[in-house]
Amino acid sequence: MNNPESARPKLRVATVSLAGCFGCHMSLLDIDERLFSLAGQVDFDRSPLTDIKELGPCDIGLIEGGLCNSENVEVLRAFRAHCKVLVAVGACAINGGLPAQRNALDIGQILLDVYRARPGLASGSAVPDDPELPLPLAQVHPIHEVVHVDHFLPGCPPSADAIWALLSALIEGREPRPDPTLIRFD
Ligand code: SF4
Repeated sequence: MNNPESARPKLRVATVSLAGCFGCHMSLLDIDERLFSLAGQVDFDRSPLTDIKELGPCDIGLIEGGLCNSENVEVLRAFRAHCKVLVAVGACAINGGLPAQRNALDIGQILLDVYRARPGLASGSAVPDDPELPLPLAQVHPIHEVVHVDHFLPGCPPSADAIWALLSALIEGREPRPDPTLIRFD
């Protein structure tokens, strides 16, 4: 009997956490034994699940987290350039989520408060300015404000079943049609 999974060429999937907490990645791992099926259908490119540092051409990019610094923007643009389909996974990618709580505050003042004015600091403490440090953005942004996003999967985090349903549709070449009973907006 033909196995439709083995007949399909493997897709290449990349994942990243930008300004996120890795909770959405943990939810992906919560698909449990379905990971075996996933492993038979996709190869992972750059991802916290692999040790691959350089992003190559991919079929699907899963983005967790919003944009809080210049490096996030650079990585997101690279994902958009290399991935045929980009998915915003979770509240932080879709609307900034918890990190966007800082948007009501002045980032310059926060840095001064933390590195210059906080009680107990050594004399001469200064805001770190090593050129290798990514520049913080004045505000945290959702990813669709910078690149085109093909699919949105809400939730904090989205459930493992919702992630599996979306991945299965994309792998099978179907348009994802989220089951409302699996979608949550926390
Ligand atoms: Fe973490 Fe929730 Fe943001 Fe996902 S959406 S990265 S689980 S805070």
